Amino acid sequence: MPYDTEVLIIGAGMSGLGLAVQIIRKFGVRNFELIEKAEDVGGTWLANKYPGCGCDVASHFYSYSFALNPNWTRKYSMQPEIQAYFRSVAEQYQVVDHIRFHSVVEKAEWDDRDKTWVVTVLDLNTQDRQIRRAKILVSAVGALSVPKECDIPGKDDFKGRMFHSAQWDWDLDWEGKDVVVLGNGCSATQFLPIMASTNPVRKITQFSRQAQYLSERENPYYSSIFKATMRYVPLAMRIYRAVFYWQMERDFSGFPIENGRPIREELKKGNEDYVKRVAPQGYWDALIPKAEIGCKRKVLDTEYLASLHKENVELVHNDPVDRITDTGVQTRSGRDVKADAIVLAIGFATQQMLFPMQITGRHGLRLNEYWESTQVAQAYFGTCVPSFPNFFILMGPNTTTGHLSVIYTVECQINFTLRVIAPIIHSLPSYRARLLPSLTPHLLRPAPTTVEVTAEAAHRDSTWTQKEARKLVWSSGCVNWAVDPKTGLNNMMYPDWQYLFWLRSIFWKKADFEYRDERTGEVVRRNKIDAGRVVGFSAAALLIAGTVWRREGAMEGLGASLKEFGRGLVGWMPMGITASRF
Ligand SMILES: Cc1cc2nc3c(=O)[nH]c(=O)nc-3n(C[C@H](O)[C@H](O)[C@H](O)COP(=O)(O)OP(=O)(O)OC[C@H]3O[C@@H](n4cnc5c(N)ncnc54)[C@H](O)[C@@H]3O)c2cc1C
Repeated sequence: MPYDTEVLIIGAGMSGLGLAVQIIRKFGVRNFELIEKAEDVGGTWLANKYPGCGCDVASHFYSYSFALNPNWTRKYSMQPEIQAYFRSVAEQYQVVDHIRFHSVVEKAEWDDRDKTWVVTVLDLNTQDRQIRRAKILVSAVGALSVPKECDIPGKDDFKGRMFHSAQWDWDLDWEGKDVVVLGNGCSATQFLPIMASTNPVRKITQFSRQAQYLSERENPYYSSIFKATMRYVPLAMRIYRAVFYWQMERDFSGFPIENGRPIREELKKGNEDYVKRVAPQGYWDALIPKAEIGCKRKVLDTEYLASLHKENVELVHNDPVDRITDTGVQTRSGRDVKADAIVLAIGFATQQMLFPMQITGRHGLRLNEYWESTQVAQAYFGTCVPSFPNFFILMGPNTTTGHLSVIYTVECQINFTLRVIAPIIHSLPSYRARLLPSLTPHLLRPAPTTVEVTAEAAHRDSTWTQKEARKLVWSSGCVNWAVDPKTGLNNMMYPDWQYLFWLRSIFWKKADFEYRDERTGEVVRRNKIDAGRVVGFSAAALLIAGTVWRREGAMEGLGASLKEFGRGLVGWMPMGITASRF
């Protein structure tokens, strides 16, 4: 059965774009298509347009290693600049032409007969459904693209505007209005100071459950001399980036529950001093975390603490919202808080990985069924799942970190994925159509068409992940987004240093994967030289040599005989290994 594309990538955010570009850079082919439900690239950085939205990783580190940008305007960039960066990378590598926008992947099923993924795509403009068949399927849907549902009773009664911070309602003119904010995470701390001071609200009432670990942040603009240095001085940008890497990576030493305690104590003291210096005394109790520092991702203070001094801001931490009414919210103590708008800064559905897509692997096994068997979402190296051949998940289970940039981790996953699929890409038409590879010796090896992690390797990896995660601070008892409250298992965080994650992506265990031949279904050993191919390759070489000699008029007779001999050999070769492969 023919297929429509060799690689189908779901999502054109940072991960999907990164993979597409690396396929072009590493294999020199454009054999992919991206399906994206939004109208443009950028994912998180397209969707989250709330006021003040920005990155909490310095931009020189929150950027692809293969697309460094000397022009970042400031240390921590804001959403429009980050989205423009991803757009420019997509344009530079001409990836945009390969993206179907306004299209959602609803489901994907593995067809074991044809060894292809059968993907159902809904066009959001026309509501038409189309089937796309692909040899390799990659999910790049991110872990923070589905806003968490509000489960507070009465939410349908509210007569004002209510929206999630990731779906900002720009028709809301907040000036002089009463606004209730639910949540105090990264997003809320970014937009609240702006609403309180720019065309200010009449009153903003923020409800928080747990204190965040708020850390001081300076966000200077870069001078033109600095930018020129980044652009023109060799290695300057790499070194600057490496400094950020080191500053962030060393935070991991504070994560082990026991050994990291002294480091966390020191951070706790620093945090307390900072909060006491900047925030009003009445809120100290609400702002200084009781849980271990590091248990939740650090939130950089974007003038949030200072804004709590304003008269139009109130932080409520000990009287939670009981229900939403038609005019606002009612708290547990019975207090009514009027609101023209309610902003839900309550985070994302992180425990429902890949939801609501339906991915079905071999023997009709659904991905969510597999994950029921592992209790929470688990994947080998956060990327591969047994019984799901030629399927890869970027930003999959246990790939988030509490301290580093997601781009770093996803780039490791991308490089790992490309290493795993290299033998399959090498056997596909786009790659074989290239002149140079068609003459290289990898063609002496058998051409696998599927790859799958073994069940035993996946189980071993998951056992190790959970064992190590239990030793780290996220398991110290605080409520956080990484730990599934029902099972206590961690399906978000990678429990080790990130440089070790990088090393794993390079020195990956080949024995943990099974490559299979499409024709025979047999397991193919990656490095075994195929005798039939050696003969075929030699015959082709002789044929070419013979043709050249003949053209030059020398040894005409020998050329013709060689050609004959070559034809004979090709005819003798096993089915499927035809001269066209060369
Ligand atoms: C507000 C916010 C701030 C953040 N700040 C930081 C930070 O400072 N540092 C950091 O490292 N990380 C940060 N993150 C995490 C951030 O999500 C990642 O850094 C990164 O953007 C993830 O990229 P992605 O491509 O994997 O996923 P996304 O950016 O979420 O992109 C996924 C894409 O897939 C599309 N999609 C989803 N489902 C389907 C489907 N079924 N069919 C078709 N398309 C689909 C979506 O529309 C989206 O475009 C932040 C996240 C948020 C929400």
